[in-house]
Amino acid sequence: MKRISIVFFAALICLSASKAPKAPIIGVSSFADSGVTSVSLTYIDAIKKAGGVPLVIPMTSDSTQLERVLQTIDGLILTGGEDVDPLQGYGEQPRRGLGTIVPERDSFDIMLSKMAVKKGLPVLGICRGEQVLNVAFGGTLYQDIPSQVKDSYVKHKQSAPRYYGTHSINIKEGSLLKSILGVDSTAVNSYHHQSVKDLAPGFIITATSVDGIVEAIEMIPSKKGEVMVMGVQFHPEGLISSGDDSFLGIFQWLIRMASK
Ligand code: MN
Repeated sequence: MKRISIVFFAALICLSASKAPKAPIIGVSSFADSGVTSVSLTYIDAIKKAGGVPLVIPMTSDSTQLERVLQTIDGLILTGGEDVDPLQGYGEQPRRGLGTIVPERDSFDIMLSKMAVKKGLPVLGICRGEQVLNVAFGGTLYQDIPSQVKDSYVKHKQSAPRYYGTHSINIKEGSLLKSILGVDSTAVNSYHHQSVKDLAPGFIITATSVDGIVEAIEMIPSKKGEVMVMGVQFHPEGLISSGDDSFLGIFQWLIRMASK
């Protein structure tokens, strides 16, 4: 009798384990500097808080390695960082206002973006990650907003804590971002001097600042499907990791899509 009940309980445990939904694995693009692979913990915190399992992806130029990584992950986050090389990225000469560029990281991020989208994985691009998405799919960037966009007067490189939104964005009706945030306008944090100029084909602009700078984009779904690719110019993870959940819905969308 004792033996039977042990078998019964073991079977019950197996059954409940197989029924429990698995937390999706979210790949996070990293950066290598001075022999160290790094990702800000704010991304890791936000993924965990939204119910995902973060997996840092080291920089590589090996597409075979990357293909194997993409078989493992259920969703992808392209993180923030340096400027995108305008010459390699979209065929423009570097302007004097261009900041630091890292060619290896551009190649890695662009390859990763294209492979993930082709595979049908949900992708969230944050800050540089949004810009990388736009470039990877045929768009261009302002290399330096202050010297290139005359009408832009908003301070997009804030001198304020990461958890604090300093400028407003207006959100497009009918967009995924609108359905997630549920508001027409909100304040976001801002740490950029580059932004989307010519939008990549197949994308729509879903948020802008009051001076007309692109603050969010999403890829138009094929055949009335769900939006699988979104980019934001601000840093939702900076707020989430500090305990402000007003932007947690962006990460929850990624986790939801990655769970399908
Ligand atoms: Mn901004």
